[in-house]
Amino acid sequence: MSYKITLILGDGIGPEVAGAAVRVLEATGVGFDFEEVLAGEEAMKTFGTPLPDETLNSIRKNKVALKGPVTTPIGTGFRSVNVGMRQALDLYANLRPAKSFVGVPSRYQDIDLVIVRENTEGLYCGIESIDEARTRAESINLITRKASERIVRFAFEYARREGRKTVTAVHKANILKATGGLFLEVARSVAADYSDIKFNDRIVDNMAMQLVKDPYQFDVIVATNLFGDILSDLCAGLVGGLGLAPGANIGESCAVFEPVHGSAPKYAGQNKLNPTATILSAVLMLRHLGERRAADKVTAAVEQVLAEGKSVTYDLGGRVSTSEMADAIISKMDESG
Ligand code: NAD
Repeated sequence: MSYKITLILGDGIGPEVAGAAVRVLEATGVGFDFEEVLAGEEAMKTFGTPLPDETLNSIRKNKVALKGPVTTPIGTGFRSVNVGMRQALDLYANLRPAKSFVGVPSRYQDIDLVIVRENTEGLYCGIESIDEARTRAESINLITRKASERIVRFAFEYARREGRKTVTAVHKANILKATGGLFLEVARSVAADYSDIKFNDRIVDNMAMQLVKDPYQFDVIVATNLFGDILSDLCAGLVGGLGLAPGANIGESCAVFEPVHGSAPKYAGQNKLNPTATILSAVLMLRHLGERRAADKVTAAVEQVLAEGKSVTYDLGGRVSTSEMADAIISKMDESG
């Protein structure tokens, strides 16, 4: 039996890191049949759109996708493929774990946090405009009871399933009284259904400071779209950088697994950056598929390579390339049998 998986290699460093993750997946012994489709700059060249229907339909059909990062033009150009894909497929929960690894140089050890980011609305809802003279611009921060309720419930269900103790809701309800206020009100009411899990909330600016000062006080963090995006990069920084931060976009019917980081265009084609974030995203995919043994095997191999610190990329103080780090992970998997 093999799993049919939609594969989007992405832009910039995407083909290098996603290619590394595919090789690791193929070395698990689990059968995969990858259906490669385009998104981002390549899709724009071929189809005249960065997110072709063919790509969305492939994910709808296969239900699971592995995705490299794609480039979004800054301040102009086409709308983000990532946001478009998350909205089109209703991938409402963006799960972003941040976990320390032995041997990785970072400010803290033993961090084990999970960000649950609302993925479909907030300031990413796509309702924005600018006048012709470019003197005034506005963006709508859309918050609905329905999306707030399902993301907070997702966070509590995740906490319960994974044996986690606390859920912290992040907001700016002191200033954004309508949008932040609604999100917080819903979070408090959902929390009342989970008396076994502690609940608290933080205003986002204080949260940023507290995360840097004492991250150990947090466990599962649930946030609206923009705050979740910013705080998950902050949390990646706590454990050694974006090269180590995996992610999953999960909806009712499909899931897309991709690293937190972007396409890092200035490093494209250099075979230089860290494939770990994408490989760990593939691990999240294996767990989603119920392939727990394979997931544990890849995780153990990644942990060993990081702990030894010899076959790691430059961001972790090493000298090997993206593909050589993947080779080292695969040989640890082979050694473990
Ligand atoms: P980025 O994450 O691509 O890179 C920022 C910096 O982080 C890099 O310069 C590099 O120093 C470091 N970094 C990133 N990935 C790394 C890795 N695997 N190993 C080691 N270090 C790594 O962010 P950016 O430069 O702000 O964005 C570049 C493009 O990526 C933009 O077009 C942006 O829209 C897009 N983006 C895409 C996604 C996605 O596809 N999910 C996510 C974020 C950004």
